[in-house]
Amino acid sequence: MFKGKWRVLAVALVSFLALTVLPVSVSAASLSDVPDAYADEVEYLIDQGIVTGYTDNTFKPKNKVTRKEAATMIGKALDLNGTKRSTSFPDVSKSLYASGYIQSAYEKGVISGYPDNTYKPDNNMTRGEMAYLIVNAFSLNAESGINYSDVPNNTSLETVIDKLSTAGIAEGYGDGTYHPKEAISREHFAVLVARAMNPDFNVDSQSEVIAEKVVSTGVLNVRSGPSTDYNKVGKLYEGNVVKIYKYQGSWAKIAYNGSTAWVHTDYIMEKRDENAPQLIAIDAGHGDHDGGASDNGLVEKDVNLAVARETRDYLKQFGLNVIMTRSDDTFLELNERVDYAVDRNADTFVSIHANASGSEYAEGVETYYSSAALSDRAYKSKKLAQFIQDRLVAAMGSKDRGVKEAPFRVIHATPLPSSLVELGFLTNDSDASKLGSSYYRDKAGKAIALGIRDYYTWKQSQ
Ligand SMILES: [Zn+2]
Repeated sequence: MFKGKWRVLAVALVSFLALTVLPVSVSAASLSDVPDAYADEVEYLIDQGIVTGYTDNTFKPKNKVTRKEAATMIGKALDLNGTKRSTSFPDVSKSLYASGYIQSAYEKGVISGYPDNTYKPDNNMTRGEMAYLIVNAFSLNAESGINYSDVPNNTSLETVIDKLSTAGIAEGYGDGTYHPKEAISREHFAVLVARAMNPDFNVDSQSEVIAEKVVSTGVLNVRSGPSTDYNKVGKLYEGNVVKIYKYQGSWAKIAYNGSTAWVHTDYIMEKRDENAPQLIAIDAGHGDHDGGASDNGLVEKDVNLAVARETRDYLKQFGLNVIMTRSDDTFLELNERVDYAVDRNADTFVSIHANASGSEYAEGVETYYSSAALSDRAYKSKKLAQFIQDRLVAAMGSKDRGVKEAPFRVIHATPLPSSLVELGFLTNDSDASKLGSSYYRDKAGKAIALGIRDYYTWKQSQ
């Protein structure tokens, strides 16, 4: 919208940014040293007459921007009066090429001087000063509590950098820092101004949505950065769909309130197709180098797998569709087990384990569900757990330790009703003797399959 006048003014102000070589208007493509990452922004600003390249076909992206250069560029971007004239600053003379823009920007409240009333036109502009400049110039008012570890809390600097970040213009260095005292380079200046002028360049627009997931917990804190050290900027609720731009460690950068924010990936999950056909995922706990509990000559991973195979076979006999996260002595991470089931659109997940205790007297069967999500899924998970528990206790003749609640990973942040069975205690002689016998393994597998079938019968009646 400022385009027309710039070409004229650019001629009069062609000496701005002059170092040893005169800058000229050329296309970014013809400049030898514009980084690809910023080529579109630089091209845009050259096209708008706001920055120029040098006659030796360079842009000098790493060069620092002085305060007089910054005022000139922002003055052009705002279409301010750049006619040279006397200024309010004793150290900015009328003859300085930037005097008109400095004075205009000062009168507009876009720039300010130092406490001693000087402007220090030849000083480098810092990244912190640049935040004030752009926030004032483009009247950015929205805040979202985004902070950086190297910006002091409860300062006006924190506020302007928050505003600049909320607007999708600044994103810091990607490690939670902003470097407010660092002199800003031409490339970074160009990116910030381009983003401020044209939302097509801003952080959110540039990012591609790589996934859509669903919040899997009742209330999920949304933070300004990828750790719990960052401020909470809001909350999401179970079932909310989030658009994900990228992952950083165990955190996901999501679209949030017109900007971006971060959530922990433990509490988001794949979306599930509710119309997919019935499919049960059976998960034999542990495997390979991860043996799980062991005692009385038994290793948990083997007991789990033997019972899981029986469960699978009975489910097939009952005409139910079944997949196994592992069907031999291999190891999968907890997330891989959940992902495997979700990717194949399973609609029920049952993880099979055996228990251990410091006391040899601890004995019996218990089945877990997760209530972290206070939802239909939690309700179904509890039902599933109860049906399995009842069948197992009856078949094994073991002590009934009941249905319990716990946020185990494989039954917690998952979109499907999920239960985790503890068949009995390897540390208890009575339980261990049953779990070591093929007779009871068969009974246990059948009981779990019957419990799952009970669950589907119940579900269909709903
Ligand atoms: Zn286990």
